[in-house]
Amino acid sequence: MKQLVINGLSKTYPNGVKALNDVNLTINSGMFGLLGPNGAGKSTLMRIIATLQDPDEGSVTLNGMDVLKQKQDVRKVLGFLPQEFDFYPKIKAEDMLDHFAILKGVSNTKERKELVKVLLNRTNLYEHRRKKVGGFSGGMKQRLGIAQALIGNPELLIVDEPTAGLDPKERRHFHNLLSEIGENMIVILSTHIVDDVSDLCKDMAIINKGSVRVTGNPADAINELEGKVWSSLIEKNELPDYNRSYQIISTRLFMGKQLIHVYSEDKPAEEFKTAQPDLEHVYFSTIPPEIEV
Ligand code: ADP
Repeated sequence: MKQLVINGLSKTYPNGVKALNDVNLTINSGMFGLLGPNGAGKSTLMRIIATLQDPDEGSVTLNGMDVLKQKQDVRKVLGFLPQEFDFYPKIKAEDMLDHFAILKGVSNTKERKELVKVLLNRTNLYEHRRKKVGGFSGGMKQRLGIAQALIGNPELLIVDEPTAGLDPKERRHFHNLLSEIGENMIVILSTHIVDDVSDLCKDMAIINKGSVRVTGNPADAINELEGKVWSSLIEKNELPDYNRSYQIISTRLFMGKQLIHVYSEDKPAEEFKTAQPDLEHVYFSTIPPEIEV
C-alpha cells in the first residue's frame, strides 16, 4: 500500500512566522483532505511534500523514500497542481500538455501524442484540445491542471486549493474527476472549503496556525460531536448577546431571523434544541468562526 509519513515537521520563515509546528500525519491511498483557513500552513506543507521547499525540522517519507533527500526520485512519482497555476494564454490545450510531457521526460513523440489524448479524455477536455487556454473557464483550467499533474502516472497527487473560484457546477465536475483519480493513488486535497472534504475524503486533517488540530475519518469526527451541537432561532439584534454567552459555531439567516448553532457539552439554555452535527460544525468547533455582529 502507498503511504506518506510526515514526522515532526516544523518550518519558521525568516520573518519569524511559524508556518508549521511539529506536524505529524500518516496518509494512505485515497483522497485525503487537508482543511484549514487561509494562513494555516497548508501551502507550506504542500510545497515541502512536493520537494519545493525544505523544513527546518522533521522528516517526510513516501513509500519509504526520503522526500527531503531523494528529491529527484520523488519528483518522478509526484503530480502537483499548485495554487497559482497559470499558463501562457495563447498556447492550445494539447500543445501545453505536450510541452509538460516533454518536461516530464516522455521523449517519444508517438507515445506523447497518445498520452496527451488519454489525459484530455480523462479530464473531459478533448473537444477543447485546439482552444487557447487563455479562453478557458476556471473549471476547465483546473481540469487542465489535473491533466498535467497526471503525466507520468504519479503515486502521489497534490492539489492546493483547487476549487476556490469555481462555480457550483464546475466544482461538482472537478469533484467527480478527483474522486475517480483518488481510487488508485494518494491524493492530498488542500482546501479551506469544508464541503470539498465532506464530499470527497475518507481521511482528513484540520490544521490551524501550523498545528494539526483534528485527524481521522470525517464521519468519526462528526460522531464525536453528537449531542454537543445545539441550535436556536433568535432575533438578529440578540446575536451580540448570544455571541458573548455561547460558543457559536455557525450562524445564518433563516426566515428573516438568525439561526445559530452552538457548541456545548450540555444543553446551553431552554430555547436550544439538539442539532445534527456535520463537518462544518467539526471545523468551526475546532477553529472558531468570526461572527459578524
Ligand atoms: P495556507 O496555504 O494555509 O494559506 P501558508 O502556508 O501559505 O498557509 O502560510 C502559512 C503562514 O506562513 C502565513 O502566516 C503566511 O503569511 C506565512 N508565509 C507563507 N509563505 C511565506 C514566505 N515565503 N515568507 C514569509 N511568510 C510566509
